[in-house]
Amino acid sequence: MAISRRDFLKVIGFTGVTSAVATIGGVLIGRGEDILKEIKPASKVRWAMAIDTRQFKTDEDFQKVIEACHKAHNVPNIPDPIRQVKWIWVDTFEKAFPTIEHEYISEEIKKRKFLLLCNHCDNPPCVRVCPVKATFRRPDGVVVQDMHRCIGCKFCMAACPYGSRNYNFYPPREFLSQVNPEYPTRTTGVVEKCILCYERLDEGKQPYCVEASEGKMFFGNLNDPNSPVRKAISENIVIVRKPELTTKPMVFYII
Ligand code: SF4
Repeated sequence: MAISRRDFLKVIGFTGVTSAVATIGGVLIGRGEDILKEIKPASKVRWAMAIDTRQFKTDEDFQKVIEACHKAHNVPNIPDPIRQVKWIWVDTFEKAFPTIEHEYISEEIKKRKFLLLCNHCDNPPCVRVCPVKATFRRPDGVVVQDMHRCIGCKFCMAACPYGSRNYNFYPPREFLSQVNPEYPTRTTGVVEKCILCYERLDEGKQPYCVEASEGKMFFGNLNDPNSPVRKAISENIVIVRKPELTTKPMVFYII
Protein backbone atom coordinates (compact mmCIF):
# COMPACT_ATOMS: atom_id res chain seq x y z
CA MET A 1 0.00 0.00 0.00
CA ALA A 2 1.48 3.41 -0.99
CA ILE A 3 0.42 6.86 0.04
CA SER A 4 2.13 9.96 -1.25
CA ARG A 5 3.61 12.50 1.15
CA ARG A 6 1.26 15.18 -0.13
CA ASP A 7 -1.79 12.99 0.32
CA PHE A 8 -0.58 11.87 3.73
CA LEU A 9 -0.29 15.48 4.84
CA LYS A 10 -3.75 16.11 3.46
CA VAL A 11 -5.25 13.17 5.29
CA ILE A 12 -3.76 14.23 8.62
CA GLY A 13 -4.94 17.79 8.01
CA PHE A 14 -1.45 19.34 7.93
CA THR A 15 -2.11 21.42 4.82
CA GLY A 16 -5.49 22.63 6.02
CA VAL A 17 -7.10 21.36 2.80
CA THR A 18 -10.62 20.20 3.51
CA SER A 19 -10.99 17.99 0.42
CA ALA A 20 -10.38 14.49 1.76
CA VAL A 21 -8.88 12.80 -1.28
CA ALA A 22 -6.00 10.38 -0.92
CA THR A 23 -4.15 7.93 -3.11
CA ILE A 24 -3.99 4.63 -1.33
CA GLY A 25 -2.79 1.52 -3.10
CA GLY A 26 -3.02 3.41 -6.38
CA VAL A 27 -6.69 4.33 -5.88
CA LEU A 28 -7.95 7.88 -5.60
CA ILE A 29 -10.14 7.66 -2.51
CA GLY A 30 -12.82 10.19 -1.84
CA ARG A 31 -16.21 11.49 -2.90
CA GLY A 32 -16.58 12.02 -6.64
CA GLU A 33 -16.80 15.80 -6.22
CA ASP A 34 -13.63 15.84 -4.10
CA ILE A 35 -11.81 13.81 -6.72
CA LEU A 36 -12.84 16.31 -9.39
CA LYS A 37 -11.44 19.16 -7.29
CA GLU A 38 -8.18 17.27 -7.01
CA ILE A 39 -7.99 16.74 -10.77
CA LYS A 40 -8.67 20.45 -11.56
CA PRO A 41 -9.58 20.40 -15.26
CA ALA A 42 -7.60 23.16 -16.98
CA SER A 43 -9.99 24.67 -19.55
CA LYS A 44 -13.67 25.65 -19.77
CA VAL A 45 -14.58 22.55 -21.72
CA ARG A 46 -12.87 19.41 -20.57
CA TRP A 47 -14.20 16.29 -22.27
CA ALA A 48 -14.22 13.17 -20.16
CA MET A 49 -15.79 9.74 -20.08
CA ALA A 50 -17.10 7.42 -17.40
CA ILE A 51 -17.58 3.70 -17.98
CA ASP A 52 -20.02 1.85 -15.77
CA THR A 53 -18.17 -1.44 -15.44
CA ARG A 54 -21.11 -2.98 -13.55
CA GLN A 55 -23.24 -2.83 -16.65
CA PHE A 56 -20.86 -4.57 -19.07
CA LYS A 57 -21.78 -8.20 -18.56
CA THR A 58 -21.62 -10.11 -21.84
CA ASP A 59 -19.15 -10.32 -24.72
CA GLU A 60 -21.81 -8.72 -26.86
CA ASP A 61 -21.92 -5.65 -24.60
CA PHE A 62 -18.21 -5.09 -25.30
CA GLN A 63 -18.24 -6.08 -28.95
CA LYS A 64 -20.99 -3.62 -29.89
CA VAL A 65 -18.90 -0.75 -28.53
CA ILE A 66 -15.62 -1.89 -30.06
CA GLU A 67 -17.14 -2.52 -33.47
CA ALA A 68 -18.85 0.87 -33.55
CA CYS A 69 -15.48 2.57 -33.00
CA HIS A 70 -13.32 0.36 -35.19
CA LYS A 71 -15.69 0.28 -38.18
CA ALA A 72 -16.16 4.04 -38.18
CA HIS A 73 -12.43 4.72 -37.94
CA ASN A 74 -11.18 2.02 -40.32
CA VAL A 75 -9.17 0.29 -37.60
CA PRO A 76 -7.58 -2.80 -39.20
CA ASN A 77 -8.45 -6.21 -37.82
CA ILE A 78 -4.97 -7.74 -37.58
CA PRO A 79 -4.91 -11.30 -36.18
CA ASP A 80 -1.29 -11.11 -34.96
CA PRO A 81 -1.78 -10.27 -31.22
CA ILE A 82 1.66 -8.64 -30.90
CA ARG A 83 1.14 -6.35 -33.88
CA GLN A 84 -2.59 -5.77 -33.73
CA VAL A 85 -4.08 -2.27 -33.87
CA LYS A 86 -6.79 -1.35 -31.39
CA TRP A 87 -8.41 1.90 -30.38
CA ILE A 88 -10.64 0.37 -27.72
CA TRP A 89 -10.28 -3.10 -26.29
CA VAL A 90 -11.07 -5.37 -23.34
CA ASP A 91 -8.78 -6.59 -20.59
CA THR A 92 -8.82 -8.01 -17.08
CA PHE A 93 -8.83 -6.06 -13.83
CA GLU A 94 -5.29 -7.18 -13.13
CA LYS A 95 -4.00 -5.83 -16.44
CA ALA A 96 -6.11 -2.68 -16.39
CA PHE A 97 -5.38 -1.69 -12.79
CA PRO A 98 -2.12 -3.41 -11.82
CA THR A 99 -1.36 -0.92 -9.05
CA ILE A 100 -4.79 -1.29 -7.46
CA GLU A 101 -4.72 -5.07 -7.30
CA HIS A 102 -4.58 -6.36 -3.72
CA GLU A 103 -5.93 -9.30 -1.79
CA TYR A 104 -8.94 -7.49 -0.34
CA ILE A 105 -10.50 -6.36 -3.62
CA SER A 106 -13.82 -8.13 -4.07
CA GLU A 107 -13.68 -11.27 -6.19
CA GLU A 108 -16.60 -10.00 -8.24
CA ILE A 109 -14.66 -6.88 -9.30
CA LYS A 110 -11.52 -8.89 -9.98
CA LYS A 111 -13.45 -11.10 -12.38
CA ARG A 112 -14.93 -8.19 -14.34
CA LYS A 113 -13.63 -7.22 -17.79
CA PHE A 114 -12.79 -3.59 -18.52
CA LEU A 115 -13.00 -1.49 -21.67
CA LEU A 116 -9.69 0.26 -22.24
CA LEU A 117 -8.79 3.15 -24.52
CA CYS A 118 -6.61 6.24 -24.58
CA ASN A 119 -7.25 8.14 -21.34
CA HIS A 120 -6.83 11.56 -22.96
CA CYS A 121 -4.65 12.42 -20.01
CA ASP A 122 -4.51 15.98 -18.72
CA ASN A 123 -0.76 15.56 -18.38
CA PRO A 124 0.05 13.26 -21.33
CA PRO A 125 3.63 11.93 -21.48
CA CYS A 126 3.08 10.81 -25.09
CA VAL A 127 2.72 14.45 -26.17
CA ARG A 128 5.91 15.56 -24.45
CA VAL A 129 8.12 13.03 -26.22
CA CYS A 130 6.89 13.41 -29.81
CA PRO A 131 9.77 15.05 -31.73
CA VAL A 132 7.58 16.32 -34.60
CA LYS A 133 4.42 17.35 -32.70
CA ALA A 134 2.35 14.71 -34.47
CA THR A 135 0.49 14.24 -31.22
CA PHE A 136 -0.84 17.16 -29.24
CA ARG A 137 -3.50 18.08 -26.72
CA ARG A 138 -6.39 20.29 -27.79
CA PRO A 139 -7.62 22.93 -25.31
CA ASP A 140 -10.69 20.76 -24.65
CA GLY A 141 -8.38 17.94 -23.56
CA VAL A 142 -8.57 15.61 -26.56
CA VAL A 143 -5.14 14.11 -27.26
CA VAL A 144 -5.01 14.06 -31.02
CA GLN A 145 -2.81 12.01 -33.33
CA ASP A 146 -1.91 13.48 -36.74
CA MET A 147 -1.24 10.33 -38.73
CA HIS A 148 0.18 12.30 -41.69
CA ARG A 149 2.78 14.04 -39.57
CA CYS A 150 3.81 10.92 -37.62
CA ILE A 151 7.30 9.64 -38.53
CA GLY A 152 6.87 6.30 -36.74
CA CYS A 153 9.64 6.78 -34.17
CA LYS A 154 7.45 5.04 -31.52
CA PHE A 155 8.57 7.39 -28.71
CA CYS A 156 4.91 8.01 -27.83
CA MET A 157 4.29 4.26 -27.54
CA ALA A 158 7.17 3.94 -25.12
CA ALA A 159 5.97 6.93 -23.10
CA CYS A 160 2.32 5.89 -22.78
CA PRO A 161 1.93 3.82 -19.60
CA TYR A 162 -1.41 2.41 -20.74
CA GLY A 163 -0.56 0.67 -24.03
CA SER A 164 -3.00 2.94 -25.80
CA ARG A 165 -0.94 3.44 -28.95
CA ASN A 166 -0.31 1.02 -31.80
CA TYR A 167 2.13 1.01 -34.68
CA ASN A 168 1.06 -0.07 -38.16
CA PHE A 169 3.46 -2.90 -38.96
CA TYR A 170 1.22 -4.04 -41.84
CA PRO A 171 -0.62 -2.07 -44.55
CA PRO A 172 -3.86 -1.43 -42.67
CA ARG A 173 -6.14 -1.39 -45.75
CA GLU A 174 -5.38 -5.07 -46.33
CA PHE A 175 -7.01 -5.87 -42.99
CA LEU A 176 -10.25 -3.98 -43.52
CA SER A 177 -13.29 -5.93 -44.69
CA GLN A 178 -15.03 -2.66 -45.47
CA VAL A 179 -13.70 0.91 -45.75
CA ASN A 180 -15.65 3.83 -44.32
CA PRO A 181 -15.07 6.48 -47.02
CA GLU A 182 -15.77 9.26 -44.53
CA TYR A 183 -12.69 8.53 -42.42
CA PRO A 184 -9.10 8.28 -43.73
CA THR A 185 -7.20 5.00 -43.71
CA ARG A 186 -3.58 4.97 -42.55
CA THR A 187 -0.31 3.66 -43.92
CA THR A 188 2.38 1.29 -42.69
CA GLY A 189 4.86 2.95 -40.31
CA VAL A 190 2.59 5.34 -38.42
CA VAL A 191 1.20 5.23 -34.89
CA GLU A 192 -2.50 5.54 -34.20
CA LYS A 193 -4.91 5.54 -31.26
CA CYS A 194 -8.35 6.67 -30.08
CA ILE A 195 -8.99 10.33 -30.83
CA LEU A 196 -12.16 10.56 -28.72
CA CYS A 197 -14.15 11.04 -31.96
CA TYR A 198 -13.20 14.72 -32.05
CA GLU A 199 -14.67 14.84 -35.55
CA ARG A 200 -18.04 14.14 -33.91
CA LEU A 201 -17.51 16.32 -30.85
CA ASP A 202 -16.97 19.27 -33.16
CA GLU A 203 -20.45 18.57 -34.59
CA GLY A 204 -22.05 18.34 -31.14
CA LYS A 205 -22.28 14.54 -31.19
CA GLN A 206 -21.04 11.94 -28.71
CA PRO A 207 -18.23 9.45 -29.37
CA TYR A 208 -19.31 6.33 -31.27
CA CYS A 209 -18.48 4.05 -28.33
CA VAL A 210 -20.65 6.01 -25.92
CA GLU A 211 -23.55 5.98 -28.35
CA ALA A 212 -23.21 2.23 -28.97
CA SER A 213 -23.01 1.43 -25.25
CA GLU A 214 -26.71 2.22 -24.78
CA GLY A 215 -26.34 3.96 -21.42
CA LYS A 216 -23.34 2.08 -20.04
CA MET A 217 -20.90 4.91 -20.79
CA PHE A 218 -21.23 8.59 -19.98
CA PHE A 219 -19.61 11.51 -21.74
CA GLY A 220 -19.51 15.27 -21.46
CA ASN A 221 -17.85 18.35 -20.07
CA LEU A 222 -16.31 17.77 -16.65
CA ASN A 223 -16.64 21.45 -15.88
CA ASP A 224 -20.43 21.34 -16.30
CA PRO A 225 -22.02 20.03 -13.07
CA ASN A 226 -25.07 18.93 -15.07
CA SER A 227 -23.21 16.93 -17.70
CA PRO A 228 -23.84 13.15 -17.76
CA VAL A 229 -20.19 12.38 -17.06
CA ARG A 230 -19.99 14.73 -14.12
CA LYS A 231 -23.15 13.30 -12.59
CA ALA A 232 -21.93 9.74 -13.11
CA ILE A 233 -18.63 10.53 -11.39
CA SER A 234 -20.21 12.46 -8.56
CA GLU A 235 -22.80 9.83 -7.74
CA ASN A 236 -20.62 6.73 -7.89
CA ILE A 237 -17.33 5.28 -6.72
CA VAL A 238 -14.82 5.70 -9.51
CA ILE A 239 -11.23 4.69 -10.16
CA VAL A 240 -8.75 5.71 -12.85
CA ARG A 241 -5.82 3.78 -14.28
CA LYS A 242 -2.42 4.25 -12.59
CA PRO A 243 -3.22 7.57 -10.86
CA GLU A 244 0.14 7.49 -9.09
CA LEU A 245 1.83 8.40 -12.41
CA THR A 246 0.14 11.86 -12.32
CA THR A 247 -0.90 11.63 -15.96
CA LYS A 248 -4.44 12.56 -14.83
CA PRO A 249 -6.54 10.19 -16.92
CA MET A 250 -9.90 11.51 -18.10
CA VAL A 251 -11.50 8.08 -18.47
CA PHE A 252 -13.18 7.14 -15.18
CA TYR A 253 -14.30 3.65 -14.23
CA ILE A 254 -17.40 3.24 -12.09
CA ILE A 255 -16.96 0.13 -9.94
FE1 SF4 B 1 -1.10 9.62 -24.23
FE2 SF4 B 1 -1.38 7.13 -23.33
FE3 SF4 B 1 -2.45 9.19 -21.93
FE4 SF4 B 1 -3.51 8.46 -24.30
S1 SF4 B 1 -3.41 7.21 -22.42
S2 SF4 B 1 -3.04 10.57 -23.62
S3 SF4 B 1 -1.70 7.81 -25.44
S4 SF4 B 1 -0.27 8.81 -22.30
